This record gives sequence, structure tokens and C-alpha cells, in this order.
Amino acid sequence: MERTYSGELKTGSKALVKGWVEKIRDLGGLKFFILRDREGLVQITAKRNSVPAGIVKAVSKLGREDCVTVQGLVKKSSQAPGGMEIIPDKIDVVSKAASPLPIETSGKIQTGMDKRFDYRFMDLRNPKVQTIFRIRDTALTKMREFFESDGFVEVHTPVIQAAGAEGGATLFPLIYYKQEAFLRQSPQLYKQMLMASGLDRVYEIGPAFRAEKFHTRRHVSEFISVDAEMAWIDSQEDVLNMLERMVEYVFKGVLKDCKKELEELGAKITIPKLPLKRITYDEAVKLVKGKGMKIKWGDDFMDAEERVLGEVMKKRGHEWYFVVRFPSKIKPFYIMADGKHSHSYDMIYRGMEIASGGQREHRHDVMVKVMKEKGLDPSKFKFYLDAFRFGVPCHGGVGFGVERLVQQMLGLENIKEVIMFPRTPERLVP
Ligand code: ATP
Repeated sequence: MERTYSGELKTGSKALVKGWVEKIRDLGGLKFFILRDREGLVQITAKRNSVPAGIVKAVSKLGREDCVTVQGLVKKSSQAPGGMEIIPDKIDVVSKAASPLPIETSGKIQTGMDKRFDYRFMDLRNPKVQTIFRIRDTALTKMREFFESDGFVEVHTPVIQAAGAEGGATLFPLIYYKQEAFLRQSPQLYKQMLMASGLDRVYEIGPAFRAEKFHTRRHVSEFISVDAEMAWIDSQEDVLNMLERMVEYVFKGVLKDCKKELEELGAKITIPKLPLKRITYDEAVKLVKGKGMKIKWGDDFMDAEERVLGEVMKKRGHEWYFVVRFPSKIKPFYIMADGKHSHSYDMIYRGMEIASGGQREHRHDVMVKVMKEKGLDPSKFKFYLDAFRFGVPCHGGVGFGVERLVQQMLGLENIKEVIMFPRTPERLVP
């Protein structure tokens, strides 16, 4: 018999359901339990004399979180969740759950975050926790759909690299045969090299690693970066235009496909209104300073400053905006400078940077000069610099953190909530 999910049951028909025992009630002659599967809950009711004696016995032996399969007749029931119950004629225990359970799955009792991550497989049995990952899945699907329809080619570039793109401080070293290598901080150098290939528009969705030393609500050591790079741009504006259409598409898609999930989490989102507001770095610094923060021109925004700027911008009607023209001294060598400023941007959603990028420097000699000024050894980047010696179009792109997007969309305090098995300075297991 084919499996039916709890959300697809029809009264009067036979069904085979598979799932976990959420709750058991024993009223003597009437025993029932709630089975939980991916789609919801269903009550299994075993009344003495209405079902075979073996079934009543099987139900009385069940424990919470046992993994079971149940076959039976679906009947109307006003008291059961979903208005239906199953009168079982067969119950199989596929796997017993040990007792006591390490953490609660119902969400009624709060378990500390660390303990939840120690037993993440069980934490994920909480439907609210699962819902986060359904929404994340939809957001990623929509991003792919957008890129594919906008002329981008999906690529995969090496995760094991010889040189870092985002500065040495956050590199994870590893031994690669007999030489030192690093986990990538981003696919930056490779996606740029592909701009010299003629593919014109590429995107990559994959892991990026940062040996972040600090503990914040938005940093982890491993995250999924959505990277895109486009050639033959007239200016950074071409990238911003693509990016805002991408988030608009994602939000439309999530609102349409995840109504139930958003409701379940109490998340209220709206479709971003295009064009998104652009403010310059200089303006942003002034606004933040005006709120008593100690930021100086030339500093990057820290979490607290980003939040304050977010509040000011929200009052002005912008929960989304771009901060553009950052000082070139705080940007990596591959960003095109324009005097003291640069052709760069951060994309902010609800007071948090979720993406950043810019127009890239494509002039070989200028890049070599900037690398030296930033204390980098160009000879270590020969593989990359070569791509700029034999004809490369002007180009620009984005690095976009999926987890931060979903975190902000759902109003979650910590980014770890959006990651199945988060990696932080303290956590390498599970
Ligand atoms: P921040 O200033 O917030 O530390 P960053 O400037 O180092 O971020 P980029 O190098 O520009 O970040 O990376 C692009 C995007 O990747 C960020 O906007 C963010 O969404 C995501 N990202 C970067 N570092 C992390 C991290 N440690 N954890 C989660 N997401 C990250």
C-alpha cells in the first residue's frame, strides 16, 4: 500500500501513514496517540472491542518519538487534529525511541540553544524548526529560477584554494598533500576569472568559510554564499538592478508558495518595492553619527551601527536599501576604486547586511598596484592576474548570504537557527 501523508487523508478510505509518536493517551478501554509526519498530525484511535486485541496491546506499549507505521480506516472525528482519525488494523514499530528524550520536540518547553544543536536531528522534529528549512529551500529555488531566467549559467568553482580573496585573518588553512591550502572565503577570484571566458553571466551557490573570531547573531564559520558575476556592465548600477529584481522575485515566490509556513512562524513579509533606496556611505555615516554612534569616516559598520542605520531607514520607509560608495581603503583589492571612494555596495535588509559587491577592477596594472598597496604579493595571485592580461570585459557582481536573508525574513535573532548543523568557533560537532 502506498504511503499517505497526514495532510492528504480522505475520510472513508484506507490509509498507510508513517511517522513519529508525538503524544499518547490511555483512557483504559480507549487508547489513542498522535502520529506526526512531515505534513502535520493525525490521531490514531484504538478502542477495545472495535480493533483487534493485538492493536490495543501495541498501542499501550508505544513510547513518545517511536517511529511507527499505521494502516487503517480514516474516519471523521470532531475532536482530533485535522478533524480525522485513523482506526488502525495494523501497527508496526519500525524503531523504538530511548527514554528519557534528550530534548523536547513540541516547542512547549524551551530547550537551550546549545542543547538543541547537540541533538539537532531531534530539534528538527519540531514543526516550527522544520518550517524554517522549508522556507529556506523555497528561497533558494526561487533564486535559481531567477538566475536561470536572467541568462546566468550555474557554475561550481574550487572550495580548496591556494589563496584567499577576503584577507588573511579569516582563512581556514588545511594541508593539501604537501602544501598549505585554504578553504575558500568566497568564489570571488574564480567567478571573476570566468568573466574572461565569454560565459558573461555566472552564478554559484555553495559553501564559504570564514574563521570569524567574534560571536555575533549574524556570523558563522560556514555559510552558503550565492555568488553572481556579470560581464559587460556599464556601471555598478547594472548589478544593483539585477539584485533588486532577484530579491523581488524571491519574495514574491516565498509569499506565494509558503503562505502556511510564514503564518506558522508569525513572519510578516512584504514584496520589496523597486527601485530600492540607494544611500552613500558618507550619508550613512552621518546618519549613524547623528544617533550618537562613534563611527568615523573610513570605518566599516559594526552590528550595532547597522542596526541603528536600519532603524533610521525604517522610519523613512525603507526596510531594504543599498549603501553605496564605500571608502576604497576598507574594500578588497578587486573592487574598483574611484579616488577615496569605490564602486562598491552593501545590500541591507531590516538593518543587516545581507549582500555586498561592486564593480571589479579589470585593469591588470591597476590591480597589481592596488594589491601591493594592500600588502599582498601579486606573484601569489598569478593564476588570477593572468585572466586580466588577455582580454577581460568590465564586470561586477555580488556575494549574498542565504542564511542572513532567511534570518531577517523570519525575524530570527540568531543566524544559527537557519543552518542545519552550524559551525562556530565553539562548534564542530555534530
Ligand atoms: P560582515 O561585514 O557582516 O562581517 P562581510 O563584509 O565580511 O560581512 P562579505 O565578505 O562581503 O561579508 O560577504 C558577502 C555576504 O556573505 C555578506 O553580506 C553576508 O550575507 C555573507 N557573510 C559573510 N560572512 C558571513 C559569516 N561569517 N556568516 C554568515 N554570512 C556571512
